[in-house]
Amino acid sequence: MVRKYLRNIQKMLNQKHSPQLLYIYKGEKKSYLRTFAHELINKIMKKPTIAIDTPFQKSDAYGALSMPVYHTLAYEFADADVMSDAFCGRIEEPDYSRVMNPTVNYLELKVKALTGADRVTAMSSGMAAISGTLISLVEQGKNVVASRHMFGNTYSLLTKTLPRFGVTTHLCDLTNLDEVRRAVDADTCCIFLEIITNPQLEVADLTALAEIAHAHNIPLVADTTAIPFTEFCAHELGVDIEVVSTTKYLSGGATSLGGMVIDYGGFPEFARRLHDEMLFNLGAYMTPHVAYMQNLGLENLRARYDLQVRNTVYLVNALRQMEGIKSVNYVGLPDNPYYELAQRQFGKTAGCMFTIDLESKEACFRFINNLKLVRRATNLFDNRTLAIHPASTIFGPFSDEQRAAMDVLDTTIRISVGLEDMDDIIEDFRQAL
Ligand code: PLP
Repeated sequence: MVRKYLRNIQKMLNQKHSPQLLYIYKGEKKSYLRTFAHELINKIMKKPTIAIDTPFQKSDAYGALSMPVYHTLAYEFADADVMSDAFCGRIEEPDYSRVMNPTVNYLELKVKALTGADRVTAMSSGMAAISGTLISLVEQGKNVVASRHMFGNTYSLLTKTLPRFGVTTHLCDLTNLDEVRRAVDADTCCIFLEIITNPQLEVADLTALAEIAHAHNIPLVADTTAIPFTEFCAHELGVDIEVVSTTKYLSGGATSLGGMVIDYGGFPEFARRLHDEMLFNLGAYMTPHVAYMQNLGLENLRARYDLQVRNTVYLVNALRQMEGIKSVNYVGLPDNPYYELAQRQFGKTAGCMFTIDLESKEACFRFINNLKLVRRATNLFDNRTLAIHPASTIFGPFSDEQRAAMDVLDTTIRISVGLEDMDDIIEDFRQAL
């Protein structure tokens, strides 16, 4: 069986064009063979090619180049046996679009080929991916160890919503490994973090945290929204489950809300719960039209991301010289305290989010009100450059004490860099200060 499989791969390798490898990859149930196939795919095709040329699950009747939008809910089966096989999970065929849809599944398949994950599940938002993942991992009376620096809604999910169901969260400084070791106990279900925290821009050592998690046989769950999953390999750093707000980079310029759970297969009970319970019982699967847009976003992600990163570095360096700004904070600056760790973990790029600090909250409001080109808006990695004052918006509903504990400062403005010509954006900053 294995020999036949390897022979098949060899045959594909001898062919000039080898997207067929992805078919083998898709169908393979054994994880070590899948890993092997993934490595081969990545040797033969670079990621931007995979992002475009992953073959459809079935050939299209009209030879469509883009995966069509299957705006259908239900699917007819050839006979009762096949129908039963599909409903009972013995074959992977769509039966109902709340849990599987060909357009959504195609996006999942691409992300699977790009990351080498065991299973990828596309959800209706980043928060759906995060809540679906956490609910699949926790149980009444158990706890989560998480960073005290988190996106506001994730923080609220862990400190407000889950406690109502008997799940507590031990918030700690994930850059202090001794504190993490003390926080993890026999009832801990996972360690959860964001790879670059928003808006504090803190980076934790994923490999060290994975070691702690794995010593307790629990997964390390990382929200990797800040840097596209095409830029680095979270699994190699020890991450077991990636959660992503695809609303950000993938959607292709804020076209749609979406989320993704990228599961590397180390925790089979998690995979079962996410699929059999979350998708079926909670119903937050991505819709086909969104998957269509995000699939297009994935196809041109590399081009957009490269330019956005270049823009970020250019803008940040210009702002450092500008009077009226107390500090410019970006993980991609060589004098940033997390620069080396971030380079080691995430590669050459550090995303397109940075913050500036001004003298006071009043100065921040004045600056934001004066902006003419930069948009006063939330969201990250839009095509437009965006500015927001996190303390009074995303973190506005929290108390002063909570904001202080999360290091969300009144003097901080978060910037998400877009695709515009940065000289125009620099001019806007200058006139607004
Ligand atoms: N995770 C991070 C790091 C975010 O910044 C956000 C939103 O800003 C989310 C998750 C939530 O994503 P969504 O808005 O797609 O639900």
